[in-house]
Amino acid sequence: MIDYRERISELKERRGAVIVAHNYVEGEVQEVADFVGDSLELSLKARELQASVLVFCGVRFMAETAKILSPASVVLHPVPGAGCPMAEMASGESVARYRREHPETVLVAYVNTTAAAKAEVDICCTSANAERIVGGIESGREVMFLPDRNLGANVSRSLGRRLELWPGFCPTHNRIVPETVREMRRQYPGVELLVHPECVPEVVSLADAALSTGGMLRYVRESSARRFLIGTEHGILHRMRKENPGKEFIGLSPVVTCPNMKKLTLDSIVSALETMEPRVELPEPLMERARRPIERMLAVR
Ligand code: SF4
Repeated sequence: MIDYRERISELKERRGAVIVAHNYVEGEVQEVADFVGDSLELSLKARELQASVLVFCGVRFMAETAKILSPASVVLHPVPGAGCPMAEMASGESVARYRREHPETVLVAYVNTTAAAKAEVDICCTSANAERIVGGIESGREVMFLPDRNLGANVSRSLGRRLELWPGFCPTHNRIVPETVREMRRQYPGVELLVHPECVPEVVSLADAALSTGGMLRYVRESSARRFLIGTEHGILHRMRKENPGKEFIGLSPVVTCPNMKKLTLDSIVSALETMEPRVELPEPLMERARRPIERMLAVR
């Protein structure tokens, strides 16, 4: 039987590769990664490292973002079919059409968009900095937030600012319904409840906090509470439990699983490092256009 972990470590050394993984991938994949984080943290890491070979364990738009920020790196995305259904809800063409029809509107794209969509917008944001990015836009300007209507609605409510919302959503977080939250509150009275802002606003309003995955990890580390209910993709429970051995983490519902994040497996990483394929390749002019809104976001930090 192949020892995948050993094989990955050999190949990683031979290729001079760095492996990064999103908080939502399977625990065993997180274990072989050099860095695990949320979208913003991984974008920053890719830009900082400029690694010669970067293996990206996350969904397609994240690997594209890494390539855009580190164009000289060979970026391997072990399972090209691991896409994000929400990112697919805003094609580059439809965003370009919106831009033509609304030339005065500021277009803010959640980083969960394809490179083609990013190339058409003014600025990007992540769930960690969405309020700061939108809050920094001159009041009086109309803003279209895409593609996540839930994150957009949650930001709009926190800032008290009207936003145009693209009709996209994350199928995984959208499955969390208020009834489940109320039922879990009844079962676990007094337990702190954290959700992701990709959840519908009714769910967010029932939670103690709505945070990005990086924000949740900091919150549970710093909180004196011992038990938490977690309303986001279950992959994050692995890291929470590992980093906080004395605390208990309960997933809000078994339906909160992203099938695309689960496509990244140890054998797919071995195969990518053996063959140096599949690589993320994007045309240089497209990367240049898509890089501008990402860099604008990073400048706001
Ligand atoms: S959890 Fe949702 S937003 Fe994240 S990759 Fe999966 S479908 Fe896309």
